[in-house]
Amino acid sequence: MIFTVFEAVAIALWISKDNLFYLFNFSYIGASITLGLILYINRFRYARRTVQLLVGLYMLVYLGLIGRENMQIEGFWYYLFTGVFEAATIHYAVAKIFGPLVFGRGFCGYACWTSMVLDFLPYKTPSGTRKKLGWMRYITFAASLIFVSMLFLAGAGNIEKIMFFSFIIGNVLYYAVGIILAFAFRDNRAFCKYICPVTVFLKPMSYFSAFRITCDKEKCVSCGKCKKVCPMDVDMTDNSRKRKNGTECILCMECVKACPKKAL
Ligand code: SF4
Ligand code: SF4
Ligand code: SF4
Repeated sequence: MIFTVFEAVAIALWISKDNLFYLFNFSYIGASITLGLILYINRFRYARRTVQLLVGLYMLVYLGLIGRENMQIEGFWYYLFTGVFEAATIHYAVAKIFGPLVFGRGFCGYACWTSMVLDFLPYKTPSGTRKKLGWMRYITFAASLIFVSMLFLAGAGNIEKIMFFSFIIGNVLYYAVGIILAFAFRDNRAFCKYICPVTVFLKPMSYFSAFRITCDKEKCVSCGKCKKVCPMDVDMTDNSRKRKNGTECILCMECVKACPKKAL
């Protein structure tokens, strides 16, 4: 079903944009996710990490570094301002703005090239309490918008080149800050929780996600094993949409794997 959804997007964009790239792009991503699901069903321990590397490296190396598309939020603003509905705007529309209405923050669990690296660090589950630093995401979000706006207002020449170098510098900064925060807070996903500007889109949209972890209260024995393994501090035993850190779920399925009663 997942592969069919991606193929439908691939064919629709290929025909409507008359560009074979979209057929290749969405078929590749759909096939990678489908492979991950098959591996997960067959209980392969690194199923999610396999998808993360297949999709994350493709976006970072092929689309970003070889194709010179700025796939970060600055690239989204840039193409949005120029009125071009191309790679970065399509990527944001599908993965980060409208897609989360269906698959929540699946992008964060299976495709993001920043967390692809951060997930190799030693603090897979946070050991400290959550910090009240979520406001920082609005600063990075505003900074990205102001940066691109200033380029347009100043009439900067060769913006394409500036966007390419800002993609490289932006990624180096994300990795550096992400790694420092992970060690400082003993939490691989600290960058995602406090700094990432994309969560300004992801969190409200994933609130309405069709795919979400739910708990069968008849089976649950309140052992708490699920919460101990959650990298995002979600209270997945509460089925309400307002549950604690509900919009942080990255659908990593660690809680599902940890539940001894198959209640999730
Ligand atoms: S929160 Fe940001 S950095 Fe973290 S996985 Fe999602 S998009 Fe990537
Ligand atoms: S452990 Fe469960 S609730 Fe936590 S992020 Fe992963 S899927 Fe979501
Ligand atoms: S691990 Fe399963 S049984 Fe234990 S609290 Fe979580 S959902 Fe309930």
